[in-house]
Amino acid sequence: MKKFYFVLFTLLFAILPACNKEVKTSGNGTFSYNFEGKVDFNANFTNERLRIEFILAGDASNQKAYLGTVSREPQWSGNPDSLIDPFGYGEYYFEAFEEGELVFSTGFCSLFSEWRTTEEASRVAKSMTHNVWMPFPKKPVKVVLYERRRADNVFQPMLEAVIDPADKLINTGRLNDFAVEPYMVNGDDASKVDLLFVAEGYTAAEMEKFRKDAARFAEYMFTLDPYKERRGDFNIRFLLSCSRDSGVDIPQDDVWKSTVCESNFYTFYIDRYLTIQDHSKIAEAVSGAPFDALFIVANCAKYGGGGIYNAYALGTSDNDRSDPVFIHEFGHSFAGLADEYFTSEVAYEDFYNLDLEPWEPNITTLKDFGSKWADMLPEGAVIPTEPNDSTQLGVLGVFEGGGYMAKGVYRPYFDCRMHHNNSEGFCPVCQRAIGRMIDFYTR
Ligand SMILES: [Zn+2]
Repeated sequence: MKKFYFVLFTLLFAILPACNKEVKTSGNGTFSYNFEGKVDFNANFTNERLRIEFILAGDASNQKAYLGTVSREPQWSGNPDSLIDPFGYGEYYFEAFEEGELVFSTGFCSLFSEWRTTEEASRVAKSMTHNVWMPFPKKPVKVVLYERRRADNVFQPMLEAVIDPADKLINTGRLNDFAVEPYMVNGDDASKVDLLFVAEGYTAAEMEKFRKDAARFAEYMFTLDPYKERRGDFNIRFLLSCSRDSGVDIPQDDVWKSTVCESNFYTFYIDRYLTIQDHSKIAEAVSGAPFDALFIVANCAKYGGGGIYNAYALGTSDNDRSDPVFIHEFGHSFAGLADEYFTSEVAYEDFYNLDLEPWEPNITTLKDFGSKWADMLPEGAVIPTEPNDSTQLGVLGVFEGGGYMAKGVYRPYFDCRMHHNNSEGFCPVCQRAIGRMIDFYTR
């Protein structure tokens, strides 16, 4: 029966042509919080949340998107004054229109877009889920999903559909009884970054350990700039999402567990890469909880983690590098930061197109450096910065090597936290990008 509903749903929402979209890659000096035609939240939305599940399918050269389940969830916790995305980050972009007027937009990445850059994607087609959340509309909305075209960085439409809030097939059922426990609530959800720590691979008997692990991460976060001085801008809660088994999947060791998010190591056959293949597992786990950002705490001592922009980050609880891994992965998911390293083993092939400026705020190909941190450099600074060695620790510059590539991609600091786990902290460029994201949720 479910299959029938799905087919009917997709047939009803016929795919129509929409225009390609040029979204300015941000992280630049012209960033502005003022938008023309600010969206009237109360006129357009209820205080609930709309979740739209997409199925992304394809291979290295092509991908398609299909509409999955549409759900109504209890609570929208975002900033009602930040409904339109100002960043232009991500491999995908989502927009919602009410009577032709843009009322919501957001950019994001998915594990699927990463997988498409692996060697495997040149041999086989696969699919993965991805969910987008927006405030629940009062009237029918046209939603458009875009993919970023690798050839020119322009977003082109993949799927267009109309969602009617009165549709009887919107799923309003409660999916779990997981308790949401406040750890630190500094104010109304609408004006704070609502960070939700999610338990993964903790049994019901291990919830006290989860509380301690999540609290340790939260307190570690506020030892680092710019989080340190923005503590009052965060609400932090714990989702007591218990799993049947303790621990997570480690396929390379033949270890398989039944856990709430079904996370696994060995993603793309990389030893330390811990991700969640089915994004809908997370979406179902958090369906009753308020959040702007998610960190999934995996109950495990193995070194590893992962972070996907505007989707989720996860890391293990009990490794001696768990704290720095957490803040690094959260940098990816929360602020769209790129990896500044280029020597570790990754599965990606030519991750960045060197003819184009990447969208991430903390790396550049020098194709449009003015949109990055050029405004933060002293006048007359020589680019690239030389020597490119540890004598430059603490110097803001343009160092060659970053984004998994030793040549053609440049980073702002010799040794930022997005480069090394043992660096002092985030470079000034990453700090600015994180600060702007906190502003987006709070101002
Ligand atoms: Zn950095």
